[in-house]
Amino acid sequence: MSKPPSVAVVGAGIGGLAVAALLKRAGYDVQVYEQARRFERVGAGIQMTPNAVKVLRRLGVEEQLRQVAFRSIESAVPPEIVHFDMRLVGLDRNAGAVALAFADGSRVLADAVIGADGVHSVVRELLLGPEKPRFTGRVAYRALFPAARLGDTRLAPVQTKWWGPDRHVVIYYVTAARDQIYFVTSVPEGAEWMTRESWSAKGDLDELRKAYSGFHAEVRAVLDACPGVYKWALLERDPLPRWSEGPVVLLGDACHPMTPYMAQGAAAALEDAAVLARCLEATGGEGLEQALKLYEETRKPRTSAIQAKSSTNTWMRTDADPGWVYGYDAWSAPLGVDELQDNRSGTGNRRGL
Ligand SMILES: Cc1cc2nc3c(=O)[nH]c(=O)nc-3n(C[C@H](O)[C@H](O)[C@H](O)COP(=O)(O)OP(=O)(O)OC[C@H]3O[C@@H](n4cnc5c(N)ncnc54)[C@H](O)[C@@H]3O)c2cc1C
Repeated sequence: MSKPPSVAVVGAGIGGLAVAALLKRAGYDVQVYEQARRFERVGAGIQMTPNAVKVLRRLGVEEQLRQVAFRSIESAVPPEIVHFDMRLVGLDRNAGAVALAFADGSRVLADAVIGADGVHSVVRELLLGPEKPRFTGRVAYRALFPAARLGDTRLAPVQTKWWGPDRHVVIYYVTAARDQIYFVTSVPEGAEWMTRESWSAKGDLDELRKAYSGFHAEVRAVLDACPGVYKWALLERDPLPRWSEGPVVLLGDACHPMTPYMAQGAAAALEDAAVLARCLEATGGEGLEQALKLYEETRKPRTSAIQAKSSTNTWMRTDADPGWVYGYDAWSAPLGVDELQDNRSGTGNRRGL
């Protein structure tokens, strides 16, 4: 490749950081623009399933992940390429480059833009217009708190999903030392909650405890020990008609936001990062837009299938083979084929590169 294209990544979430780390290693001039002022904890746990760990392993952060979990991705990204307090407000394509406009009035140029700016993606809105999510009729409560609050009660070492007829709660330790407990629920709720997708709205502990009063003693012990909760509405979106326009492309929640029931949002963002890096490598930096199309063509069948399955909230409720989700390896999956069919049948109809 002659001079590698410059790439602007909008958003320093798990997907943006992963793709930035991979492209930086591949020799691209990558810069990451993040609206937040710094990295900080948001009070949520995250499960890293085998398909996600396969991507993290190649990033070289598996060992750190085992010890301290998700924060380790930051160590794979040189800090000097992450620019905080940079909220993207506009994109302007002209003369072969894309101009990114930020809320502070500054502008930068890049050959390609990766919109990894999450569920409320500005890049998506600029490409496709405003979205119209549907309220699922359910809300989630979540909390993260010191395990010491549970006294002598010890939880199972692996995560447990406790099912009721119309609600569930997932509980697990988030640290290797098992000193922090996390839970997340899904409970029916009235339509007045439909607009509140905020991750930082507080919930009412008494309401939560009442909603789970008929559950197992272990669940009740966790909810009783919990000092405070967050509550947010669970919304749904259909797969997007397209993920890219010219040299601008979406990644992660920006292009396939999903309900949290399968714990696959971050995993899918990591898979996207690996496949996008592979597609760019396959075209050698010459056919940038072709690479972005190949990425979309490769990823969309799989992420659409996961979005659809997740919305049913039936994943692992009964015996079923989870291999098509957890067995996926983003580093070796064929590019440009219907991966879902490939994974399920063991055959692939290779086309593309
Ligand atoms: C409670 C909860 C539990 C979950 N549990 C799991 C789980 O167990 N396993 C799993 O795989 N997934 C889980 N998910 C989903 C997962 O968290 C998301 O799918 C994942 O974080 C998406 O990553 P992302 O990089 O695409 O977006 P994000 O992590 O949302 O990152 C987007 C970034 O872009 C920045 N940004 C936004 N707009 C702008 C702008 N205009 N300019 C600049 N920067 C901007 C944001 O500040 C943010 O840092 C869970 C989600 C929730 C809410």
